[in-house]
This record gives sequence, structure tokens and C-alpha cells, in this order.
Amino acid sequence: MNHNLYAAFAAGFSRRLEQPCLILTDGRAWTYGDIERASARMANLLVRLGLRRGDRIAMQTDKSPEALVLYLASLRAGMVFLPLNPAYQAQEVEYFLNDAQPGLFVCRPQFREAALLLAAQSGVAHTLVLDENGRGSLIDLAAAQSDIFETVQSGPEELAAILYTSGTTGRSKGAMLSHRNLLSNAETLCREWRFTPADVLLHMLPIFHIHGLFVACHCTLLAGSAMLFEPRFDVRRAIEALPDATMFMGVPTYYTRLLAEPGFTRKCARGIRLFVSGSAPLLAETFTAFAQRTGQRILERYGMTEGGMYTSNPYAGDRRCGSVGPALPGVELRVVDDAGRPCGAGVPGHIQVRGENVFSGYWRMPEKTAEEFTDDGFFRTGDIGHLDKDGYLFISGRARDLIISGGLNIYPKEIEDVIDALPGVAESAVIGLPHADFGEAVTAVVIGERGAQLSADAIAAAVRERLAAFKVPKRVFIAADLPRNAMGKVQKNLLREQYAHRQAGAPAGCSKPE
Ligand code: AMP
Repeated sequence: MNHNLYAAFAAGFSRRLEQPCLILTDGRAWTYGDIERASARMANLLVRLGLRRGDRIAMQTDKSPEALVLYLASLRAGMVFLPLNPAYQAQEVEYFLNDAQPGLFVCRPQFREAALLLAAQSGVAHTLVLDENGRGSLIDLAAAQSDIFETVQSGPEELAAILYTSGTTGRSKGAMLSHRNLLSNAETLCREWRFTPADVLLHMLPIFHIHGLFVACHCTLLAGSAMLFEPRFDVRRAIEALPDATMFMGVPTYYTRLLAEPGFTRKCARGIRLFVSGSAPLLAETFTAFAQRTGQRILERYGMTEGGMYTSNPYAGDRRCGSVGPALPGVELRVVDDAGRPCGAGVPGHIQVRGENVFSGYWRMPEKTAEEFTDDGFFRTGDIGHLDKDGYLFISGRARDLIISGGLNIYPKEIEDVIDALPGVAESAVIGLPHADFGEAVTAVVIGERGAQLSADAIAAAVRERLAAFKVPKRVFIAADLPRNAMGKVQKNLLREQYAHRQAGAPAGCSKPE
């Protein structure tokens, strides 16, 4: 049996060669037949360039159908795909090229000069260009190739992709994902979320990350559905396109932006059978406001680069606000204390997972890999959370964001929830800053709703009324916004750096708007 992920997708292609797979903003479509032929040409090119099975293909380009085709070609040829965020600067790219040693680097035209230099230093044999309109030397060379290619036979453990984690502490790590890891998760999600060939997914996520590349594209390709393939998230365009779609996937920021638009109405969302949110926590307030506006409950799920999706609220059944749902079928998930003993319902601890979807380790980091797995093969996610009595998971944050103040563990989420519920507050982030007495001092950075006059004193007082004194922020800063990465995650490491120089010992209330 061929375990190649593309072979699993292509098993259904012959029935739908004339059906649209990608529909672009201007209405042009790529049929499944087009995808099959274009990926064959590209796979032939990869082979022609002298690349071999297992070689890495690095891509740092804008989102386009051709970029997706390069991924599919890499699968077909048995190579290992390495997508990179276009926001990375030369110095960051240099690290990835040195670490992964790809045989081919595909970059944007404006980056070509720098890329050639980096490629020469890192020993990358080929550098080709792909622009946002799907043009460039990659496509010119592929055009001359045959549009027939026999997808290679892959074993289940063979690598399909390496995705670098965002690396907020220390070096960024390359998560090695096999064909089996990716296929098992895609099959599970397809089934659980009931994808069918009649579905049309509005795709506005980037494709250098698991959410847009794996979750969204794999489900579509496996089910034979179509995607409205948009270059990026644009709220006006989303409102325009939603009536033509049946599904939408987004990070929480997409949902808050949609809600900020009066043009986003119940009517506009009526044809969507499933709204999915993930990659960062969805605020309870957003979930509720969305349900009020559209009559639909967003399905929140949880996962990460190292293993795809671990939990999902149910398609049919109770989608609980604030929870990321129970473990998906085939995923074993447990919450344990510092000594590795299972925590009871309601007790927060370390989230660990095991299953076919979970990666085999970090690229060329055997020691780091060994540290992250338990003796019985569970992966330590680094996330903290608790299960309720029905097995629904609630996430409180990353272990490294845990605040230890005066020897007591404090989960930022608990304080953020209290602050977020105050009138006039749009959102907040709670961090620990070094403090001479306490070790770390609880510090809140709060963003107000437009026009709201927030008082740092009043916020601290409101927390004092609701939570134990040791959880009350020593200082509250009112700020204009929070630093986020491309997937909408608040970058607490940056916040800690930004506020580290402030005197954390002073009482709450001495801050002024930034
Ligand atoms: P990434 O590997 O970039 O996808 O990041 C994975 C991390 O994002 C997880 O370890 C969680 O900390 C966070 N994450 C993903 N989905 C959710 C969610 N629904 N709620 C809260 N955090 C999430």
C-alpha cells in the first residue's frame, strides 16, 4: 500500500477531474485535473533538477495556487516540504537554510539577490523564484515538463514536511511530520467535520502554517471539495465571499474583525455550515457575540505544529464556550501534574498527547526530542489546561507563560478572563515580570474598546474583588494593542521584553495610556 499523502488525495481525483478545486478572487478556477497536471510538471522539474527523495524543498513565497502546487509536487516526488513565513528576514532565513539544508529554495522575486547569497553560503544547490501572481523561474521551468508523473511509493514513516515552530524561547525547532502523521489527522478531521465534495471552504489563511496548509487544504483535497482560495484575510472580501461558501476557518482575530463590521450579518453567514476557530484562544465574548449576530456557534479546536489537531468541539453536540472540546478519535490526551500523575477533573496540569498524528521529533535535535517525550511515548505539548468531568479540555496557557509569584502558581488566563469581562475592555494579556520580592510580579496589559476610558486602578480593584490577592496585578498598563504573530497569537515573550524595564514593584494604577 502506498502511504504517500498525495496518493490518498489523488485516489478521488479521477472522479472529479473537471470539478473546481481552487476558485480565485477573479473567478478563475483550477480544476482537480489542473492540480494533477501542474503538480506532475512541478514534480518532474524537481527530479530534473537532480533532487532526490528525502531532499528538502524550502519555500518562502506569497500565497498562490502555484505555491500549493509546489507542496503537492514535493509530496508526489517523496521530498520534504519546508514552508517559511514570508515575514522572515534574511538573518532568520539563513538559520533555516543552514539547519534544514534544502536542495531547492523557492523565494519571492524581491528576495532573490539576498536568497542567492544565502543559498551559496548554506550550500543550497538551486534557487528559483515565484511571485504572488504565480509567475517566475519555477513556473517557466516547470512549463516545459511532462504533465504525467507517477507519485512515488512512500512508507508511513517517511517525512512529508518539516515545519519550524515559532521559537519564542531559544532556537526555532523543525517538527518532522510523516505522511502517516498528516494523513491520519486529515482523515479524522474530514470525518469529524463532515466534509463532502459539495463543500466550498473560504480559505483566507496563510499556507506556511499547519492551519492553512494542513487543516484547511488537506480536508478539502481528501474530500474533493472546493476552496475559495484568497491571497489573505480581508474582512470586506470575506463578507462578500461568505455567501458563496459552506465552511470558514480562521484564527480568532478574523472573527473579531468580522464582528466589528456592521455588514457582517446573519444573512451573510447563513450558507456556512461550519465556522472553525483555532491557533489561539477564542474569547468567550467573541463566541457569544458571534452566536448572537449569526445564530451559529463557532467550533473551536486545538492543536499544534507537532501533531496537527488534538481536540475539537463536536460537530453535532455541545460546543462549549471557552473549551477546545474533547480529544479527537485516535488521539490520546491526558493532563498530568509535575510528577506525571493524572490530574482530576477541573485540576490544571500539563497537557500530553499520543497518536498517529503526533510527530516523530525535531529535525537534528535528538536530545530536545527525547526531552519532549515521556517514557510511555506521550508528547509534552507545553500547554497547561484541565479536563472537565465530560472530558472537555480548557486551556489556561503555555507552561512557559505560567507566573510564579511568591512561590504560588498563577495561570494568566484566569486573570485575563476577569479583566476581559469588564466593561470597555477589548482584551488583555497577563504576564510575569521580574520582581525583587516576589520573583515575578503579575502584570496586566489591557486594551480598551474604541473610545473607552479605562482606569488601571479600577481594573486592579475589579480583579481584587473576584480573585485571591496574590493574583491581583501589581501593575496594570493600558496599551493600544498587543504584539501578535501571523496566526494571531499574542507574543508574550515580546510583551515581557517590552515591559521588563518598567518598575514592577510599584502599586497598580501608576500607568498611563501608551
Ligand atoms: P502552532 O504550533 O503555531 O500551531 O501553535 C500551537 C499552540 O497554539 C498550542 O500549543 C497552543 O498553545 C496554541 N493554540 C492552538 N489552538 C488553540 C486554541 N484553540 N486555544 C488556545 N490555544 C491554542
